[in-house]
Amino acid sequence: MSAVPPSRPKVLMVSPMPDWDLAPMREAYELIDLPAGGLGGLATTADITALVTSGGRGAEAALIEALPALELIAVYGVGYDRVDLEAAARCNVAVTTTPDVLTADVADMALALTLALARRIVDGDAFVRSGAWPNGAMPLTGNVAGCKVGIVGLGRIGEAIARRFAGFDTKIGYWNRSPKPSSSWQAFPTPAALSAWADILVVAVAGGGDTVGLVDAATITALGRDGLLVNISRGTTVDEAALIAALESGAIAGAGLDVFRDEPTIDPRFSRLGNVVLSPHQGSATVATRRAMGALVRTNLAAHFAGKALPTAVLSRHS
Ligand code: NAP
Repeated sequence: MSAVPPSRPKVLMVSPMPDWDLAPMREAYELIDLPAGGLGGLATTADITALVTSGGRGAEAALIEALPALELIAVYGVGYDRVDLEAAARCNVAVTTTPDVLTADVADMALALTLALARRIVDGDAFVRSGAWPNGAMPLTGNVAGCKVGIVGLGRIGEAIARRFAGFDTKIGYWNRSPKPSSSWQAFPTPAALSAWADILVVAVAGGGDTVGLVDAATITALGRDGLLVNISRGTTVDEAALIAALESGAIAGAGLDVFRDEPTIDPRFSRLGNVVLSPHQGSATVATRRAMGALVRTNLAAHFAGKALPTAVLSRHS
């Protein structure tokens, strides 16, 4: 008589993951895709013990509360601003993210956007392709070396951005919510004070309710007419209406943006601006980093189901 195979834990897939993650996950878990119409499309939700979601999708209170056996939310990303942490705590659900493994690529994206913006790389590409070059040189551009770079949010990614900019012979300043006594960069008391000092303002602070519009109209315009703003954090951290107004009026010189308030839908005015470089939230979107992020999601799931400590928890369960 053959043994009855042990049942695999049920894991709700709220956001898609690459096949290289799904294949090993299917060996250990029963993966259930969240139906387009919501949980009502499932025969039962009573025995779903974990869910996997992206930073952009998160997990709202209604979803958490509708899963009575839920124990773990594993975020495929480092931002957890769209996970309702209060609901998770109330329902005794742990939350994990994928920090560190994406830091370098997101920091690289901040540098790439800055250089593309200052040196007008996208315009130069279009200029060459258009055949305009034989008729005369492209206009001169701004530069990065020697500039003052202000970083809003000196967390893991902010620190990595600072280290990279230091290699470009820039001066580094920062604003951070909590003191950073170990940092040798110049600290500023407010984002606006940092912006008034900086030539280039790079936003790397966490998203969430507390940081909505942290980079407000006054902070944006404090950059001045030659100033550049780069945002790789979340679209919510910069007052987007004020940013568009500043870009349209020439109150600042340009912006490099990887994140948008209502992404993937963007304000159509961005597409009409000539002084922006726009990126579709690609900060961590490299093969190597997505593989490492997926591996960390799987490590957290495995630890949870083995009853071990979660390697990268932002919220743990109480016993
Ligand atoms: P981290 O190490 O946790 O750093 C978070 C930073 O945000 C710290 O400077 C922290 O200040 C600050 N912060 C957190 N909550 C705050 C609040 N309520 N008010 C003011 N400041 C607050 O995270 P990280 O790994 O550097 O990631 C930073 C952010 O980058 C993520 O949250 C995410 O939104 C974004 N991100 C974007 C991409 C992309 O593809 N574009 C990819 C990954 C991450 P303290 O030092 O005081 O805690």
